[in-house]
Amino acid sequence: MIVPDPDGIEGIEQFQSPGKGRGLRACRNFTIGDLVLACPAYSCALSAAERGAYCDCCFSRNKSLSKCGQCKKAFYCNMHCQRRDWPMHKLECSAMCAYGEKWSPSETVRLAARITAKKKTQLEKTLSEKLLLVSDLEANLDKLDNEKKEMIEADIAALHHFYSKHLEFPDHASLIMLFAQVNCNGFTIEDEELSHLGSAIFPDVSLVNHSCCPNVIITYRGIVAEVRAIRDISPGEEIFTSYIDLLYPTEDRIQRLRDSYYFTCECTECSTKAKDKAKMKIRKLSTPPKPEVIEDMLRYGRNAIEDFRRAKHTKNILLLSICELSLDKMGSVFDDTNVYMLHMMYQAMGVCLFMEDWEGALSYGERIIGPYRVYYPSYSLNVASMYLKLGRLCLGLDKESQGMKYLKKAMAIMEVVFGKDHPYFTEIQKEVK
Ligand SMILES: [Zn+2]
Ligand SMILES: [Zn+2]
Ligand SMILES: [Zn+2]
Repeated sequence: MIVPDPDGIEGIEQFQSPGKGRGLRACRNFTIGDLVLACPAYSCALSAAERGAYCDCCFSRNKSLSKCGQCKKAFYCNMHCQRRDWPMHKLECSAMCAYGEKWSPSETVRLAARITAKKKTQLEKTLSEKLLLVSDLEANLDKLDNEKKEMIEADIAALHHFYSKHLEFPDHASLIMLFAQVNCNGFTIEDEELSHLGSAIFPDVSLVNHSCCPNVIITYRGIVAEVRAIRDISPGEEIFTSYIDLLYPTEDRIQRLRDSYYFTCECTECSTKAKDKAKMKIRKLSTPPKPEVIEDMLRYGRNAIEDFRRAKHTKNILLLSICELSLDKMGSVFDDTNVYMLHMMYQAMGVCLFMEDWEGALSYGERIIGPYRVYYPSYSLNVASMYLKLGRLCLGLDKESQGMKYLKKAMAIMEVVFGKDHPYFTEIQKEVK
């Protein structure tokens, strides 16, 4: 595990960003690929779906993990990892056995439980809080609407329900504050193909503000967040990452940022809307569709995205036909490179992968990758992971030379965003001849 220099962080500093509150800025030059900041997780929770594939303590991908002898549900690299995780795992170990099938706290609740326990025992500043203390994370309490307040109350109820035996609870107001902080500052850790691995808090990284034209990207090495430059950065320049998927047009991005993070983005991309026209491209037809038909289809596309966000975990044949139907419907008005089409193709590809329909997945992926390169920044995990999936699909289908081409494209991006010594990069290096 890489632990940043204990004496402080070189090359960056906290400052008041005009109109944005706290922010982080460079005090030296960074070039593309440079590590700007590394921050170990203050707290993290491995996704229940990944138990057994990754170590519960350090999130290492490992084929020979050992089970916790008591619950048989947590897995570790070795005794060292197991011992290190025990102060956190003990909150869940016996409760998981007691509840059996009924053990179902959300990842947010699990993370909040871990933060609560850590705050009790960890009295000194951690290596994750060189620039910002976990207690000083933004909560945006004054901006919570009723729906958000109700969700927080439900999370607090679940926390009491599942953790009553093993956790000392702070008062109700502190719990509301904690969940509001987790909602605004929680990071989701993903692998190189963007599969969800777990949730974590990285206080120092939370200082980085959002832009739709980011100059850094955040990746994970186990449970350490690494912030790397994806453009050259000069002293005095603010560090910006993207909090959201940058595929979508300006209006959608602004809506998403307001809903989840309570601010309005004023970056160059949001003010010029330079990519919007291409992102919402209409099919070339002998009689062009009327504006109201386009409007209707946009609404349809946006609703479909929302519906899929909710149905994310049900990947079955039925979902594939829903994708195909909506591609047919939107395809009468939208061009194949339209982002709402791409969104649906991406979902369809996911279902194909799940059903092991490799040819199907490959054909969707090959329709997606071209426009992805145009809409996403040059160094994007969305683009890298798509190349990676395409490369691996081709190799599995005996399309060796095409597969190698895709993997090399993935590597060119991964080299910058993950670094050449990252296991995700070195693993592919072995696959590529
Ligand atoms: Zn481990
Ligand atoms: Zn256990
Ligand atoms: Zn923006």
